[in-house]
Amino acid sequence: MTAWDALAARREGVPVLMPGHVWLAGAGPGDPGLLTLDALAGLQQADVIVHDALVDQRVLALAAEPARLEFAGKRGGKPSANQADISQRLIALARGGHRVLRLKGGDPFVFGRGGEEAMALAAAKIPFRVIPGVTAGLAALAAASIPATLRGVNRAVIFAAGHGADEDFDWAPLARAGQPIVLYMVMHNLDRIADALLAAGLPPPTPAAIIASAATPKERVLISTLEQLCGDALEQKFEPPAIVVIGEIVRVRTQLFGTAACVSPEPT
Ligand code: SAH
Repeated sequence: MTAWDALAARREGVPVLMPGHVWLAGAGPGDPGLLTLDALAGLQQADVIVHDALVDQRVLALAAEPARLEFAGKRGGKPSANQADISQRLIALARGGHRVLRLKGGDPFVFGRGGEEAMALAAAKIPFRVIPGVTAGLAALAAASIPATLRGVNRAVIFAAGHGADEDFDWAPLARAGQPIVLYMVMHNLDRIADALLAAGLPPPTPAAIIASAATPKERVLISTLEQLCGDALEQKFEPPAIVVIGEIVRVRTQLFGTAACVSPEPT
């Protein structure tokens, strides 16, 4: 009996991935320990897995033996499949009677194309299920010992995309909210966005952090301030994928990080 069989035997209501169905599942930020049990159920049952570049190899290694892996997504600078083609591919695979797992880094619907794929599947009358994943924004904060919210510090968290949004996006209302801002896809626009937040009134010494490749062996954390963040990131050669968090909540890390009570999981 495999560990999966043993687990599935003890869990009621394991969802069944039927031939001709598609699951749109989040793979989390990297570490397979952050998969949901439903995503794992998909990995164990799918015969075709269509994944993007943010899905960690350690996650793909959990696919059932006969499953075929298909890459579909962006890969640094190289030509990538466009969204309509990916959606059509999912539809064709389902119509071909496959059990299809569409696996996307983080959560499929957080700054991902999950919504577009779901709409295409619905229009084509392909049965599908959405399995949320641990989004990079929250996983990165946890990896850096920064709570997303803490009573007395903040009562909201702003998630924003630093890239792909309209260039005319107005950052000032976000700055004025006085709540931490968690930025995805921001590394190429960090200087412009930091300047906009400063211009909107965020104090230059506002604590800020960058968490790169969270939940992977390449994970790195940079702690800085809003005014110095960009320079520090350049100097220390921080690269995507990375999450940036700006706000007082970053200070809480000093009370948690490195204390005996807050341990990171050790690789086995
Ligand atoms: N749907 C995904 C996000 C896709 S957008 C999710 O919910 O996580 C891609 C962006 O996610 C990257 O540019 C980066 O900002 C962030 N990201 C994804 N994986 C990451 C990781 N392991 N560490 C840090 N940031 C990550």
